[in-house]
Amino acid sequence: MYTGINASDIKERNRGLLLRLLCCEGVDSRIEMAKRSGLSKMAVTNITAQLIQDGWLEETHLTETNRVGRNPMGLALSASSPRVLGLYLSRKQVTAVLADACCTILHRETAVLEEGETRETLLEKCLGVLCRVRRKSPQTPLLGIGVAAIGPLDCENGVLLNPRNFFGISRVPLKEALEKEWGLPVIFNNDMNAAALAEALFSPDRRREFLYLGISDGVGAGIISDGRLFQNNGGFVGEIGHLGVDENGPLCSCGNHGCLELYVSMPVILAQVAAALQVQEGTVAPEQLQQVLLLPACGSIFRQLEYHLSYALTSAVNLLNPEMVLLGHEGVFLPDSLLYNIEKQINRKILASGHREIKVQKSSFGREAPIVGSVCCVLDKVFAGNLYCVGQVGQ
Ligand SMILES: [Zn+2]
Repeated sequence: MYTGINASDIKERNRGLLLRLLCCEGVDSRIEMAKRSGLSKMAVTNITAQLIQDGWLEETHLTETNRVGRNPMGLALSASSPRVLGLYLSRKQVTAVLADACCTILHRETAVLEEGETRETLLEKCLGVLCRVRRKSPQTPLLGIGVAAIGPLDCENGVLLNPRNFFGISRVPLKEALEKEWGLPVIFNNDMNAAALAEALFSPDRRREFLYLGISDGVGAGIISDGRLFQNNGGFVGEIGHLGVDENGPLCSCGNHGCLELYVSMPVILAQVAAALQVQEGTVAPEQLQQVLLLPACGSIFRQLEYHLSYALTSAVNLLNPEMVLLGHEGVFLPDSLLYNIEKQINRKILASGHREIKVQKSSFGREAPIVGSVCCVLDKVFAGNLYCVGQVGQ
């Protein structure tokens, strides 16, 4: 449905924009904020005055050494500004973090998932890590809880549907449980989308058009277009792992043949490497792939990865026209020379070949991207002007 914008919505959006400039881009002077946002100096002065009053910001002295006269006052996030709880649910563990609006992770707690886990024990562990991490900093107000979870998910209702190889657990109403326990907004997303959001908001070069390709137990993608996450209600966007790369290939759990993740998911790569090196499965860790995949014994695995990833990514790039592909999750452990070759292949095969140069790089957050991303699920709403709370005033 198309809706109009009321004056109060505009105020909230402008406030979110200034917070984004400060928190994501480090813009700490009112003059620079006005320049970058296009807002009048008066508007910036009014909004930042409110943010100071609400306990979000504090004034600092800008360190301009060659300036004549009084140094202008800068702005920084206040030590008692509202915080965000982040929860990352992976196949092996749940991690909770407490972060500020600059996405600085202040505290972290983890619980390992074990054989025999049930829906109830999983929920208990999720609530447990969040409680423990909150106890480390109980005073500051909370904006909300961001959840980054393995899929498939019903994002709208915050339900973990039926992940493969996940202790037989299905239909976990995580959002409902968290809302009931905490009474806070809960923003739910799959871990690929969350990781892509982390890159969009907090990577040093603030990319606006890219595809995040996460390689883990499965393979998935998060799509950022014009700086925003491409998302619809179903929660099934970016399932690049089920893009067909060989119609005569083996049967996938999704019912189709020759899906990408049958060839390039982390367990598949590790099993192939173990076989090639004639060692037991489980003895090679993802962190070792950077070196191990360059061994002569792994030559054909390297070439197959190059072939399948560049094949699938060429289709994805033709479809979405990103500027860049970011490899993330455990994909950050693949050798740089493999990424270089994939980049070369894509640029040779895409329709825009010769007109556009697509970069293939690793996620700037390494394997932390989904954890940072869980916090970003909430911060994205804050910076869009859709979520706000008053900080701890008078500290
Ligand atoms: Zn499939």
